[in-house]
Amino acid sequence: MEHRLQELRARLQEIDDLNSAAAILSWDQSTYMPPGGAAARARQLATLSRLAHEKSTDPELGKLLAELMPYAETLPYDHPDAALIRVAHRNYERMTRIPTDLVSEIAAHTAASYHAWTKARPENDFATMLPYLERTLELSRRVADCFPGYDHPADPLIDFSDYGMRAAVIRELFARLRAELTPLIRAIVAQPPIDDSCLRQYYPRNDQLAFGEHIIRRFGYDFERGRQDLTHHPFMTKFSVGDVRITTRINEHDLGDGLFSTLHESGHAMYEQGIDPAFEATPLCSGVSAGVHESQSRLWENLIGRSLPFWEYFYPELQQTFPQQLGQVPLDTFYRAINRVQPSLIRTDADEVTYNLHVMIRFDLELALLEGNLKVRDLPEAWNARYAEDLGVTVPDYRDGVLQDVHWFGGLIGGAFQGYTLGNILSAQFLAAARAAHPTIDEEIRQGEFATLHGWLRENIYRYGSIFTPNELIERASGSPLRIEPYMTYLREKYSAIYNL
Ligand code: ZN
Repeated sequence: MEHRLQELRARLQEIDDLNSAAAILSWDQSTYMPPGGAAARARQLATLSRLAHEKSTDPELGKLLAELMPYAETLPYDHPDAALIRVAHRNYERMTRIPTDLVSEIAAHTAASYHAWTKARPENDFATMLPYLERTLELSRRVADCFPGYDHPADPLIDFSDYGMRAAVIRELFARLRAELTPLIRAIVAQPPIDDSCLRQYYPRNDQLAFGEHIIRRFGYDFERGRQDLTHHPFMTKFSVGDVRITTRINEHDLGDGLFSTLHESGHAMYEQGIDPAFEATPLCSGVSAGVHESQSRLWENLIGRSLPFWEYFYPELQQTFPQQLGQVPLDTFYRAINRVQPSLIRTDADEVTYNLHVMIRFDLELALLEGNLKVRDLPEAWNARYAEDLGVTVPDYRDGVLQDVHWFGGLIGGAFQGYTLGNILSAQFLAAARAAHPTIDEEIRQGEFATLHGWLRENIYRYGSIFTPNELIERASGSPLRIEPYMTYLREKYSAIYNL
């Protein structure tokens, strides 16, 4: 068995090497590549992804895993070898269920759709995207049908990003969250709006970058095993446990844009940097789900990075960095500015309270499309109606309406959005658990110290990589299954104080 296990590791490592090489090419494409490199880069990425797919679906790998599965069952459930075999087997089953022809059809279609979208969005042109989207929906259904026995066609698609979650469970969870969020948002909107003009002054790029990097170094992001570069749409990427990179973008007329994006991506990156290095180059060596990953980015960005104790420590430093802009602005004004709640059109610009409504709209529309209860041609109308109803805003055009997010235009329909709100909910659940274990955490944050919090996250979440399922990890780390109460308590306490509710 030891010999078989070694062969498994060698095969998985090759797959990981190919995927990591592709990740480096993608990172370069989004940061430094000159436009002239685009065509060759697309080809290079396609080659690497084809090789990785061939190796991931190699029948020899399937045979090896079938031999190893009974052995895995003799080991304790949380033994790394048992988990490795289990997760590799699950991935193999999943990848081989989808016929190779369908995989290449999807790859070709989503590349073409993405390309069309990059032109159609600025031109406010939904008509061009309509046939693409209809085909995307058809392909998404066909992928779902490769996994018969589902309750909802979105279930297999949700499983790819948030393993073990179900449309019905999320729908019920979101309905409860929505019922609690709506009155809170209504009460906030009834208050005088917060003036956030202090954030919209001229903030030179390099000072912004240096300040953001100073903060995430204090959080515990390891620059010996990472770096930050500039891009258009910030992301985190990993090539190995020793090389986990983040990207940000700077708007010299909006301080919040780059700073909070840096804090957000550092949360994703610290998760990946904190995985047990023994899992390197195996499927265990990555964050366990979209939702849990997002909980880590949101925790550092919002629950820490937009909190008053945090800025009690760091605001004087920020004022020293930008004396002209903030020297005369009191802490309270700045704190309220970075936490301004304002129902708006664009998900990625939304505040942390209304953000979830944007996600729920997309999630409900995805389910309706997959069920066949909503036609793609009626999607813009349904979108606009929900924005009017849920957020009270009028959608002026397709560009800032149904065309705004890349997800449906560069990927499948289903499973891409729920993780953002699951992450918000979990961020508060995990922080509450960390506080219960270490009541000194808040005092430490007020001193600009994060070692206890970072240590708790590493000990209870990061290091496990994908050993447990998301639901197992949530329960082990926080003592209960996913629940909305800690999140709603957090939002109510914070925003009642800010808006004098
Ligand atoms: Zn994120």
